[in-house]
Amino acid sequence: MVAGRAWAARNSHIPSVGLAGRAVSGYQAGMTESMDRVIPAAPRFDLVGRTALVTGAARGIGRGCAIALAQAGADLALGFRDAGTADARALVAEIETLGRRVVPLQMDITRREQIAGATTAALGALGRIDVLVNNAGIGPPNKAESVTEADFDRTVGVNLKGTFFVSQEVGAAMIRGGGGGRIINLSSQAGFVALPTESIYCMTKAAIAHLTKCLAVEWAPHGINVNAVAPTFIRTPGTVKWLADDTFRADLLSRIPLGRVGDPIDVAAAVVFLASPASAMVTGTTLMIDGGWTAR
Ligand code: NAD
Repeated sequence: MVAGRAWAARNSHIPSVGLAGRAVSGYQAGMTESMDRVIPAAPRFDLVGRTALVTGAARGIGRGCAIALAQAGADLALGFRDAGTADARALVAEIETLGRRVVPLQMDITRREQIAGATTAALGALGRIDVLVNNAGIGPPNKAESVTEADFDRTVGVNLKGTFFVSQEVGAAMIRGGGGGRIINLSSQAGFVALPTESIYCMTKAAIAHLTKCLAVEWAPHGINVNAVAPTFIRTPGTVKWLADDTFRADLLSRIPLGRVGDPIDVAAAVVFLASPASAMVTGTTLMIDGGWTAR
């Protein structure tokens, strides 16, 4: 069964129609595009019957994505840098109360053996991983003139190397499974505009937007859609100190036409869309969630 069919077969509960109100499949002579799929009668945004792995899930945007994916119906594998923290345990309990299966994983994404072990454990517990959210990331201030090699390696190691090798491990499992999948990367508005004192961070987030295109093209034949989201400043434990500075916050607000910073749910909503059947034709794109900052 080709990946597109497998993806559709798992959604056989979803009403579908072809071009003339019937299912369509197979190629026809002279056609350049694949008709080997089932066309839904209406867009579907729910994730009932799907499984999702979120990295860096303990707090902030990762936590928001995990809860939103569970609310949309997905069972969850939660990657934690430290699975023993109170934040990690609280999130597991919160998702259980939503009635979803949840698997906590020790998964420091800078450690290849933890990436492999966590992926194997998630597959063992949930059977497959349909959706991967590469959320884990760091953004320490790095004045360009004083950044050390250790600062550089740490930021690139988490944001870029970690994101790549998690994608490789989970992408390989999606390919072996033959059922397609969705990968959603956390880029940033900072990958599109420069933020002073954040050159290394900005560089990694620009690279993630391009990695997203590369993986989307390479893995499209396997039915794996790869997209990214690029948020502006979002209120999380990672940004709370910056946002507490009145001058800094006023400068931000002057650059955001919608007039507010974001909340994790603003990002989670886009992630649920990119994980859902409704975005089946979207791949290789980075969706800005920036209140219009980069549109000016
Ligand atoms: P946060 O600092 O609040 O949380 C980051 C999470 O990543 C934490 O749970 C942390 O434990 C985890 N993490 C860090 N290093 C890890 C590692 N080596 N292995 C596994 N997990 C690790 O951050 P946030 O603000 O929620 O940001 C989440 C993601 O969104 C990041 O990739 C960030 O770059 C991106 N982003 C954030 C904003 C924002 O304004 N908050 C804007 C654009 C993009």
